[in-house]
Amino acid sequence: MIIVLFVCMVIARRSRKKIAPSVALLLAALIPPVVGNLIIVLSEEKMLSLVGYYFYFLGMNMVMFALMRFTIQYCDIVGRGKYIERAANIFLLLDAIQYIFNPFYGQAFSIVRQLVYRKPYYNLVPHLGQTVHRVVNYGVLILVLGIFFYKTYKSLRINAEKYYIIILALVVGGLWETYYIFSRVPIDRSMIGFGVFGLCVFYFALYYRPYRLLDQMLAKVASKMNEALYFFDPSGICIWVNEPGREFAHIEKDHYEGVQNYLKNYFGVEDENEDEWKTDFVIGDGEDERYYYIEKHVIKNEKGRMSGFFVRIHDNTEETRKLKETRYNATHDSLTGLYNKERLFEEIRIMLDENPEKEYLIVYIDVDDFKMVNEVFGNQFGDFVLKYLADKISGLCTEVSVYGRLVSDTFGMCIPEDRFDEKEIVERLANFTLSNGDMDQNILLHIGVYKVEERDIDIAAMFDRARMAVSTIKKEYHKYIAYYDSKMREEAVWSQHISTQLDDALRDGQIRPYLQPIVDNEGRVMGAEALVRWIHPTDGFMSPGSFIPVFEKNGMIADVDRHMWRSACEILAKWKRIGLDMFISINISPKDFYFMDVAKVIKDLVREYEISPQNLRIEITETIMITENEKHMKVLNELRDAGFLIEMDDFGSGFSSLNMLKDMPIDLIKIDMVFLRETKDVEKARIILKNIITLSDELKLISLTEGVETEEQFTSLAEMGCKLFQGYHFSKPLPVNEFEKYIGL
Ligand code: C2E
Ligand code: CA
Ligand code: CA
Repeated sequence: MIIVLFVCMVIARRSRKKIAPSVALLLAALIPPVVGNLIIVLSEEKMLSLVGYYFYFLGMNMVMFALMRFTIQYCDIVGRGKYIERAANIFLLLDAIQYIFNPFYGQAFSIVRQLVYRKPYYNLVPHLGQTVHRVVNYGVLILVLGIFFYKTYKSLRINAEKYYIIILALVVGGLWETYYIFSRVPIDRSMIGFGVFGLCVFYFALYYRPYRLLDQMLAKVASKMNEALYFFDPSGICIWVNEPGREFAHIEKDHYEGVQNYLKNYFGVEDENEDEWKTDFVIGDGEDERYYYIEKHVIKNEKGRMSGFFVRIHDNTEETRKLKETRYNATHDSLTGLYNKERLFEEIRIMLDENPEKEYLIVYIDVDDFKMVNEVFGNQFGDFVLKYLADKISGLCTEVSVYGRLVSDTFGMCIPEDRFDEKEIVERLANFTLSNGDMDQNILLHIGVYKVEERDIDIAAMFDRARMAVSTIKKEYHKYIAYYDSKMREEAVWSQHISTQLDDALRDGQIRPYLQPIVDNEGRVMGAEALVRWIHPTDGFMSPGSFIPVFEKNGMIADVDRHMWRSACEILAKWKRIGLDMFISINISPKDFYFMDVAKVIKDLVREYEISPQNLRIEITETIMITENEKHMKVLNELRDAGFLIEMDDFGSGFSSLNMLKDMPIDLIKIDMVFLRETKDVEKARIILKNIITLSDELKLISLTEGVETEEQFTSLAEMGCKLFQGYHFSKPLPVNEFEKYIGL
């Protein structure tokens, strides 16, 4: 017992628990009485026996001191309760002191020799002091018990567990000791109770955990969880189910027999082995679809054998629905429900990658003038159009195609080439009529197609190409579909290339006028047309055909023209100084009207260079009358009023012409060179030319024929009455200094 107590004490000393020092002290204090008893039992000498008795009695006081201290801490007594400890300690101390006087006064006890089992044994003869000792010790013991009872009474049953055993050990130990005192049995066996008590304290103070409490708490926690839990013993018998689990499997309280079957029938969970697994589970379909996550956990003992397992079922329905919804919103267009751009691109990429052998077309669909639809009929109608179109597109596509909405009024598709039917698409898609209630609105589409030849470029770049194809037919009303070819890309690259360089070119004088002589019917040079040339540092000499269309498209033409007009004025100013009275015709692009007040700019120039407006002639084409003709007419009238001559360029090459002559404020007709080109019926062309010339005469307009390349053309036109001539027959457009040489300056 001494060894056991000692070992426990050492262990208790090493423990980090707060209570551990008190436990160690109590265990240590239990050793001297036991040792004392050992001595008493073994000793055959009086002195040694006396020592044993002192060990025993003083040790008991130590035990009581340590017990009180332990109790106060174990029962968590604070405040006034501490006085009890102090009072007990004083009594214990006084009691210990009186033993010091026992050798002198013999007031506590004496011992007498007896034979027990035929061996000498010194038995105790108690006196008054011994009674005091017992009273003090029992007093402390009763106090301690009182404290424990009080604590037990105050705590809930489940929490009092840790006190019960200690009370029991104390009572048993106390009664045993009492039995010894009154029985007058010479040998005190109640010491065994001391040891047992020490072990109880050691275990409950340091290692005991309230498992029943824990059990209840965990059960509570598990029932509060919103997942179903089913616990099984190793043989697969259900031992516990939490609250959600009961509800889920419709189990009456504690009737767990049906659980295995239920799980088997509902989820097909049937498994007797020790593997852990987890899986997602879907039950029902459509609106009723529910999602579960099921997991089996195996609990194993230290040897790795299964001591039980549990199944967790989590109802994922809400989360999954939310997730699906967010995923849907992130990948679909909210208005039409089609894939959005990002998702469409992804899907196309997947389709291309999965079918490397197949040929595909990228189709770009653009609603013509959708802005106008929105503005005129309202956004609601605009949305309606887009939804309607989305339905049409999805109706047209089969499962081998993907489609979606790109941005605003543009849609995209990717179709296997062998499934693409141009006629069907154009007929069903390109031109339809929708009613907005009051009136029908015709909706036109433009469709651009790119055949996927380079598979590794971005899907966005593929759509760029398809869109590029659309841009070639944007202005054409009866062409709905266009195919991308590599020339388009080259053009785009080219226009990018020259557009970025224009500013520098204008500043560095790379862009200059060439002058082409205009002669009268006797071949005398009357003036010239200023035609732009770009002398490019790396690309060399460039004719306007290569860059004017680009700049007309992006509006930069205004910069070119302003520069050209100023250059013409400079030349005229110089000629004026040397007394040369000749005109220069400048070209005005229809686009110029969008970017500047043409009349004002030209009038300012003439004023700045102090030249006569008569010498600066203005070439316009009839295309300016297609849009905003009243505004443009005003500009022309303004110029005419200021003294400028207005020439109608390219007459006969456009589409209306004759009617135009009636309204347009012009002074001169430049007859297009188409009439001089080789035709099957030369005679017809001649008749038309002749009549245009006559018509001009009668309308009091000067006639000028462009593109005169031969002497015959010149003579016959002159015979018809044409007044002015321009063409390679006289001269090509020339650099200014060569032109001046040409006219003999
Ligand atoms: P355009 O105004 O009709 O100019 C006449 C074009 O016919 C010029 O081409 C001229 O070189 C060419 N040409 C003259 N005589 C003959 C001939 O006998 N036979 C043939 N086959 N061609 C002849 P160019 O200079 O290449 O100009 C082409 C077009 O570029 C011009 O047509 C004009 O529309 C535009 N352009 C030229 N310079 C300017 C400019 O400064 N501003 C604007 N806005 N457009 C310009
Ligand atoms: Ca011209
Ligand atoms: Ca012309």
